[in-house]
Amino acid sequence: MLGTIGAAAADTKVTVSPTTVHPGDPVLVTVTGSTEQPKGTANGHALEFFPTHAAYRAVFAVPLDAKADTISVEVDSAVRPAYVKVTASTFPETNVIVEDELANPPKADRDRIDADNAAIIGAAGKAKGDPQFVRTFRRPPGEVTSIFGEWRRFNDGHRNQHLGLDLFALEGSKVKVVNAGTVVLVRDTFLAGNVVVVAHGSGIASAYFHLSKTSVAEGDTVAQGAEVGLAGHTGRTTGPHLHIGVWAPGGWVDPAEFFKLNLAPATTKVSRK
Ligand SMILES: [Zn+2]
Repeated sequence: MLGTIGAAAADTKVTVSPTTVHPGDPVLVTVTGSTEQPKGTANGHALEFFPTHAAYRAVFAVPLDAKADTISVEVDSAVRPAYVKVTASTFPETNVIVEDELANPPKADRDRIDADNAAIIGAAGKAKGDPQFVRTFRRPPGEVTSIFGEWRRFNDGHRNQHLGLDLFALEGSKVKVVNAGTVVLVRDTFLAGNVVVVAHGSGIASAYFHLSKTSVAEGDTVAQGAEVGLAGHTGRTTGPHLHIGVWAPGGWVDPAEFFKLNLAPATTKVSRK
């Protein structure tokens, strides 16, 4: 409107997408009208903004234990926060029968599982800093065989929540990285078998489980589509498939939702309109 010309040049606006989410969903935060890197928080946690050609963007995870409530997304330079409505969801439960030693591991193996989990989450946490990706994230091919968030009840009755997406893959087929990044973990784990974790920057990481073989080393930089390993069924699985995990600040998110986000390619700076 004419009347607003001459007012503050930077009318910083913050929007979120989607505006209604479930626990474990990723949320895309977009800031327009800011000439410098915004600072902000979601649910009290710092957001990791990266520049795109028309806006600054950040992604965060709605915690899996989030209650039905409203998350406020606050950006320092914006007058008004944006709000995300969390609706409760009931994740399905399935029974899984695996070898007893995998369903109910002895103490030494449980210690190994804890160390594996700490290593995987520690690696995903290294995804902070400048974005290494310049293209949209690409979902690996393959039909979904198991969704994110599903509860699995094992032989002995204990339950475990599935924190990734399982995609059908033939034993030995190439597993390609979903975007450019740095390999931050290559590890032979008890439950997830051979694991590769790639940090993409801006707090985003991707993880590839149950590989029959890994093709990269920690510290390698990988271009989008580079082979990180071959699909397999190492660890606790019922058959060959690719388990893909996606980490965003705040935790694991539903990859199916993540790959739908409009994550415009990162550029070195935000151009003005
Ligand atoms: Zn899986």
